[in-house]
Amino acid sequence: MRILITGGAGFIGSHLCDRYLAEGHEVIAMDNLSTGSEANIAHLAGNERFHFIKHDVTHYIYVDGSVDLVLHLASLPSPVDYLNYPIQTLKVGALGTHNALGLAMAKGAKFFLASTSEVYGDPLEHPQRESYWGNVNPIGPRGVYDESKRFAEALVMAYHRYHGVDTRIVRIFNTYGPRMRADDGRVVPNFINQALRGEPLTVYEKGQQTRSFCYVDDLVDGFVRLLASTCNAPVNLGNPRELTILEFAHKVKEITGSDSEIIFVQPQDERTKDDPQVRCPDITRARELLGWSAQVALEEGLQRTAAYFSCQAGLA
Ligand code: UDP
Repeated sequence: MRILITGGAGFIGSHLCDRYLAEGHEVIAMDNLSTGSEANIAHLAGNERFHFIKHDVTHYIYVDGSVDLVLHLASLPSPVDYLNYPIQTLKVGALGTHNALGLAMAKGAKFFLASTSEVYGDPLEHPQRESYWGNVNPIGPRGVYDESKRFAEALVMAYHRYHGVDTRIVRIFNTYGPRMRADDGRVVPNFINQALRGEPLTVYEKGQQTRSFCYVDDLVDGFVRLLASTCNAPVNLGNPRELTILEFAHKVKEITGSDSEIIFVQPQDERTKDDPQVRCPDITRARELLGWSAQVALEEGLQRTAAYFSCQAGLA
């Protein structure tokens, strides 16, 4: 296949490039490098089946030749990034998805949307099943991300129903692993880098909000399985092991062997406004349709991620 991956130089996108290249496909990574990085794909330079196009998908997308599959991952998924770039976040979810779908339709390609557990907002149903419509504040600071992804899902379903495009939608729950940006503000890079530097781990509020963390290789495997299926409905992918953020801070300390203290802080910006108080995927659909569940234990995944960050920081 000839595969276009938007956001291909990002954290998850670059792992997808690796996976599809390893399977013998030709991969075109497209990225404007706003939150992605050339370092994530530097090891692919010289591979004749890999191409990189620096482009912002909110503008018309042009790709020469045939395309069999479009994976649309371009996005600003970190709360700190979407608070800093709210309009760009809305544009990439709306205009970027429209352009990527237009390209897929023109090329007769299959289309895959990377959506998010944020479509469930601060959920009133727990764990979250795909049938839950969510509890999103459209005018809150997170609304720019949540609503752009909700719009993107609606657009994908419209192209599927009206134009007959063969589409897939994955709702990604918190995912972590090597190639996350050390400074993207999310809890995994924050805590690991704080622990490695011996600095305090900054738990927001009281740390009683919950998350569940999926290792990136498991997620990528779920993507490949979803694409091989015929399921056009959204599918949750995530690891159902749920922890409070305070428990997670202790887990990071244990894995890194750090003696950092844990402190409770109240960020001055709006990053904790509308912060989902619980989040855990119901993965029944992925289990039944794809035979998928997360395989990498949190401890193992955190060790690999900590090794990556300590190498990045020159600590290894
Ligand atoms: N969080 C925290 N300390 C940090 C960064 C994040 O306590 O240094 C909390 C944040 O308030 C949220 C959870 O960790 O409840 C996960 O945040 P993240 O930014 O990783 O992503 P989210 O799941 O909110 O999209």
